[in-house]
Amino acid sequence: MRRQYRKIVLVVIDGLRPDAITSDGMPALSRLLRRGWRAEAAVTVRPSVTVAALTSLATGVSPERHGLCDARLQSLGRVRGLRPLPQELRRLGVQTSVFAAQLTGAARWLAGALLRLGGVTRVVPALSAPGGIVDVALQWIARNPSPELVVIYLNDTDLAGHAWGWMSPAYLQAATAVDRVLERLGSLAEDPEALVVLTADHGGGGVLPQDHDHPHPINEAIPVGMIGGRVMPGLVSSEPVRLLDIPPTVLHGFGGTAPAEYEGRVLHEAFMTELVWA
Ligand SMILES: [Zn+2]
Repeated sequence: MRRQYRKIVLVVIDGLRPDAITSDGMPALSRLLRRGWRAEAAVTVRPSVTVAALTSLATGVSPERHGLCDARLQSLGRVRGLRPLPQELRRLGVQTSVFAAQLTGAARWLAGALLRLGGVTRVVPALSAPGGIVDVALQWIARNPSPELVVIYLNDTDLAGHAWGWMSPAYLQAATAVDRVLERLGSLAEDPEALVVLTADHGGGGVLPQDHDHPHPINEAIPVGMIGGRVMPGLVSSEPVRLLDIPPTVLHGFGGTAPAEYEGRVLHEAFMTELVWA
């Protein structure tokens, strides 16, 4: 079986705007992104809301197809007919583990249902501080040598954005706090068998200062970057990049091929030895 990576770590920072990633405010993330490949501009799905975006990451299809845009709807009908990424990975012998900030109410119910349906191997919830989540994930990675997709979900920037507004001092402070934690991913990015994918589910403040769900370029702009073995060092890609490109790229990274229904493309331009792999 062709397999390029043993670990792919997908870090989703809820509501992190690309323009919040500055060398003063988020020095660690800026450095990580400069070391690897990154999209000059990337967009999330529409509507630019967390449930829709995370479901798209989990299923490879846009909200139009999966129909999950609102945690309150609690309708998983259409998702049942899809081919979730963790299930596709399982067929390649790859586990999926999720390390997440604590969710509340309907969002928590939905996440649980989605994770069970999607074939996720384990979920480690109820960690409050971003540092705790990343540390527990890194300890897990060090102990478990099996091929695995590790999803790390941090929501501090989204919480601050809703409370005080996107790009407000409190929001930027939350981004800096997350950044101090991301520093710890640096050594993982040096492992030739590891790939770290950094992204966000949406931006915010495009229409309303404390919200992100209206269609607007600022709400839809997200960072997408990759660091790790065989990633083009220091390359900024001007190709169009979408959140939906992440699931096929993850499958490709484990030697698999995305189902035809997946709407994104493999981000081939991010990798060095593409010809050798083909
Ligand atoms: Zn939000």
